[in-house]
Amino acid sequence: MREFAYVRASGVAEAVGLAAEGPVAHLAGGTNLFDLMREEVERPERVVDISRLPLSAIDDLPDGGLRLGALARNAQVAADDRIRRRYPVLARALLNGASPQLRNRATVGGNLLQRTRCRYFYDLGAACNKRSPGAGCDALGGLNRGHAILGASESCVAVHPSDMCVALAALDATVNLTGPEGDRSVPITDFHLLPGATPQVETVLRDGELVTSVDLPPWPPVRGTYVKVRDRASYAFALVSAAVLLEAQEGTITVARIALGGVAAKPWRAYAAEELLTGAATNEQAFDEAAQEAVAGARPLRHNAFKIELARRLIRRTLVELS
Ligand code: SF4
Repeated sequence: MREFAYVRASGVAEAVGLAAEGPVAHLAGGTNLFDLMREEVERPERVVDISRLPLSAIDDLPDGGLRLGALARNAQVAADDRIRRRYPVLARALLNGASPQLRNRATVGGNLLQRTRCRYFYDLGAACNKRSPGAGCDALGGLNRGHAILGASESCVAVHPSDMCVALAALDATVNLTGPEGDRSVPITDFHLLPGATPQVETVLRDGELVTSVDLPPWPPVRGTYVKVRDRASYAFALVSAAVLLEAQEGTITVARIALGGVAAKPWRAYAAEELLTGAATNEQAFDEAAQEAVAGARPLRHNAFKIELARRLIRRTLVELS
């Protein structure tokens, strides 16, 4: 690991001010950052420790939603009674996301900002446009079983590894930011970027901006779940995962949300499939058609065509179970 300057920020304004002086890495739980620094994938000259900022609360919002502080631990969020009762899909995603030890360290903000686990990204001997723009992408012709089938580009086919973000996408969460130019909010579905020609730009965060919280809008009681398919039953990232919400009245679907993980560089909302379902009868034909629509634009790589059928079946099965 290279030498770096370490500064502990005592307040949000100080953290923003430090970041305004030049590039920094923000340290919260450190569960991904330390790996990246140890492997020298990231070589920050300054690390600003934000772990003691007052951003760890989970607060009720006046509209009936919840605000998750950026430093709330994944374990804390998953165990919160309000999350378990009102947003069980999020609790399930978090519990599927990592070991208990990691959940006790990892934070909401860190989960949002974690980097891909593409093996070529971590291998300094490999060509990787995300790590070294313009270098090429060894995953395109290499082992790409775990890579993207949706929204990828010739520059990068990596996937975002988060489970939490998939549930947040299904729930229409909002990410709150603060920075040198003030505060702003971004829908979670717009927060992460597809790779295009600039895979090194992964989010809409501007220089010096900090994630302060994530807002969950109020939701009426709705059936929902998070399912994850992976190579091992635990301690593994998703090959494909799905956060699905479904509600029906008198046999007609009134609410449908489908977000996929493990398939793209961001949590992938299947908007067209949701439109097909909304107003449709709760039957297997509708579920089949929606599942097919959800993967209609998929483009497989050499080793991951199985993900298309896996995603289709996962969506269909989950809709049947929720109906
Ligand atoms: Fe790098 Fe993306 Fe290619 Fe992986 S898929 S090697 S992260 S450019």
